[in-house]
Amino acid sequence: MNAFTLNTATHAENAAHDIASVLHPFTNLATHPQVGPFMIARGDGVYVEDDQGHRYLEAMSALWCASLGFSNERLAKAGSDALRTLPYYHTFNGRSNAAAIALAEKLLAMAPVPMSKVFFANSGSEANDTAVKLVWYYHNAIGKPAKKKIIARKNAYHGVTVAAASLSGLISNHRDFDLPIDRILHVDCPHHWRYAEAGESEEDFATRLADSLEKRILEEGPETVGAFIAEPVMGAGGVIVPPATYFEKIQKVLAKYDVLLIADEVICGFCRTGEMFGSTTYGMKPDILTSAKALSSGYVPISAVLVNDRVHAAVAANSGKIGTFGHGFTYSGHPVACAIALETLKVYEDEKILAHVQSLVPQFQQGLQRFAARPFVGEVRGVGFIGAIELVPDPAKRTAFDPAKKAGARLAQLALEQGLIVRALADAVAFCPPLIMTPVQVDEMFERFDRAMTRFEAEQA
Ligand code: PMP
Repeated sequence: MNAFTLNTATHAENAAHDIASVLHPFTNLATHPQVGPFMIARGDGVYVEDDQGHRYLEAMSALWCASLGFSNERLAKAGSDALRTLPYYHTFNGRSNAAAIALAEKLLAMAPVPMSKVFFANSGSEANDTAVKLVWYYHNAIGKPAKKKIIARKNAYHGVTVAAASLSGLISNHRDFDLPIDRILHVDCPHHWRYAEAGESEEDFATRLADSLEKRILEEGPETVGAFIAEPVMGAGGVIVPPATYFEKIQKVLAKYDVLLIADEVICGFCRTGEMFGSTTYGMKPDILTSAKALSSGYVPISAVLVNDRVHAAVAANSGKIGTFGHGFTYSGHPVACAIALETLKVYEDEKILAHVQSLVPQFQQGLQRFAARPFVGEVRGVGFIGAIELVPDPAKRTAFDPAKKAGARLAQLALEQGLIVRALADAVAFCPPLIMTPVQVDEMFERFDRAMTRFEAEQA
């Protein structure tokens, strides 16, 4: 095989070189050599194009990221300007740069609850690992060294680094990685359709989950429980929208036992739920908030951890005792990433993206709901500009398809053949479109999906 040359290779050459050289995340590595890569070559607005010239409407913003689509000129310019001004510097030992300061200020001004400081990292996983370490450091700082357990939820997704994967409540993130680590607990998944008892209302289900959380905290010993982490809407676990009154009731329990709340806004942040943050949509009052993805529209890796004054004051005092806050990444506050993220937030403001999303929500949610009556649809769920359609063999029974059938993946493949990228999360097919979609594109998305669904239905016969 000749050496790979960027952009001049055919699809067959791309595939051969990919198979020979790339270890893919979240991929069946044993079958990848036969399946081969799906290679995206370029982006244009809400569309992407593969290496054979096929164009797709990207209804997942790739990995819940590209909120401003795939060709925003302002972000490209902000990046190239930043590269020419200061391509790299760090923020250790009190070093700083203008982009990091401006971005931190902007985030504090936008935060859904009063926050005191912003810590920068490069990914959602790093942000959540940072949150875990802050919880531990904080409780040492305030003289409660036993208060270290962190409660997460089954089906949560918080990333793949050692602590973040442990917080995640998905078996494939744990199995054979010897995870989760100790001091991480998982409580009930708040999926009403799947886990409520017959006739149980959303409110009663939420009460039951809050009671069960309280019971668990008492069993563990409240003096050992440091924090609770939650995505406002669970993303990779299947776009699980919390039942009515859930966070209100959960937060009452947390307050009673002095348990910190970490909001993982990695997907929900920046207009996705129809508010600037999912915390606003659900009345969450986090002590620590993690964000990434739409923070830079996915254009560069960056994440941010916002901490409130209570946490920051204790952490700062403790670092004074030790002589340093011994945590940080080489790329924390990277000037190019911060400049692009800052520009992203300015675009949200200048182009009134939140109001635009709010205007699209009824069309988007009604478009999804129209699939509720289809023969293999168990549940249609969503909020704001995110949603999912759950496939089942018989909606009256709610039992799942045989996992070996890979029903969700099959529907996603049929959508791809219609020029539409959606994502299968087990048998839920997720939608998380770029926030810049037009009403015409929203219709086009559902028309393509409808054709895929019709073929899926025909295959079940
Ligand atoms: N938290 C949530 C809610 C996520 O959806 C993700 C990624 N999908 C992460 C954390 C991890 O982010 P990353 O892949 O950037 O580490």
